[in-house]
Amino acid sequence: MKNSKPEFNRIAIKVGSNVITLPDGSLNSWRISRIVQEVAILSKQGTEVVLISSGAVAAGRGDVPPSNKTNVIAARQVLAAIGQVKLMSSYQFLFGKYGMQAGQVLTTKESFRDRRHYLNMKNCILAMLENNVLPIVNENDTISINELMFTDNDELSGLISSLMDCQSLIILSNVDGIYTGAPGCDGSELIKEINEDSDEAGKYISSSKSGFGRGGMLTKYSNARKIASEGIDVFIANGNRDSVITDIVKRKDIPCTHFIASESRRTGVKKWLSHSETFAKGAVRINEGAKVALLGEKASSLLMIGITGIEGFFKSGDIVRIFDEKGENIGLGKTQYDSKKAELNIGQKLSKPFIHYDYLVIYEKNKTSIQA
Ligand code: GLU
Repeated sequence: MKNSKPEFNRIAIKVGSNVITLPDGSLNSWRISRIVQEVAILSKQGTEVVLISSGAVAAGRGDVPPSNKTNVIAARQVLAAIGQVKLMSSYQFLFGKYGMQAGQVLTTKESFRDRRHYLNMKNCILAMLENNVLPIVNENDTISINELMFTDNDELSGLISSLMDCQSLIILSNVDGIYTGAPGCDGSELIKEINEDSDEAGKYISSSKSGFGRGGMLTKYSNARKIASEGIDVFIANGNRDSVITDIVKRKDIPCTHFIASESRRTGVKKWLSHSETFAKGAVRINEGAKVALLGEKASSLLMIGITGIEGFFKSGDIVRIFDEKGENIGLGKTQYDSKKAELNIGQKLSKPFIHYDYLVIYEKNKTSIQA
């Protein structure tokens, strides 16, 4: 193995259920072993890798056909309880062949709401990397249900790459990337690069999904754009292609869609905030003057004087969304007022900002509406 400087210091790699399970739902050991080999080589060359692997629910499917008495949600929990163990055993066995330790990190959407939990998770993964233990992350599917779930593991992989300050996120799926039509159809072409200004690509993508995974192309696309806007290069590629990870890292010209990282980098708190929109407790409407100030080049806090309306009940420290006069969601932040006090002071000139600049996120030039 080479000992030259690695291309990336730290990357996240997301492996979809459709890549590592066979049509009958059992684990595709051969494919997993190829992915493990690539990750092992990368790690030995000095790149820190955080793996986000789906496949728990799919892997459990072959073993226990849930009884008719069990409802769909509980059946999924049972499958995950069995499948996650099988998934991790495969990974541990296969990484062991390269003299590597792999460890499991199970998380929930709730863990990203609380900044203390968020930092605990970061410290845990950092400690694993420090001790040469390869972190393998999945949602804790046994306790995450309905609205408390991630949209899919693409969303989770985005959150993890942002949390861990990865330079790049590789999402391995069963297609080569984002196409201008349905993959495989006449005239449908692979989009090789998407940057901050390419608004075009979104309109080609169908919201349909296939196979065992939870997410579809549309969620992959919006998630990848959001992560790229934070300064992380995102690649969507075909996990069934041999050497796909190595080729991407070496920047070989292989079929994939590259979401080019934006130049702007957000601070830790702002990154956490930008992923917290689903936890918002309320909203404020602001006037045009305040909007111009917030969108301008200069760092500005949101003051009470610019607020024209308050919605919902929130406490000081809660996250609230910010809407302009036209009703467009332009950002969010952590408030320093509760809703009652804010209501009483609408339009007033007070010294304490409603949201301090350090706790404020304004969506990229007001173009990217961050998806819930
Ligand atoms: N966490 C789920 C699993 O491991 C996968 C979710 C997804 O398909 O993105 O089975």
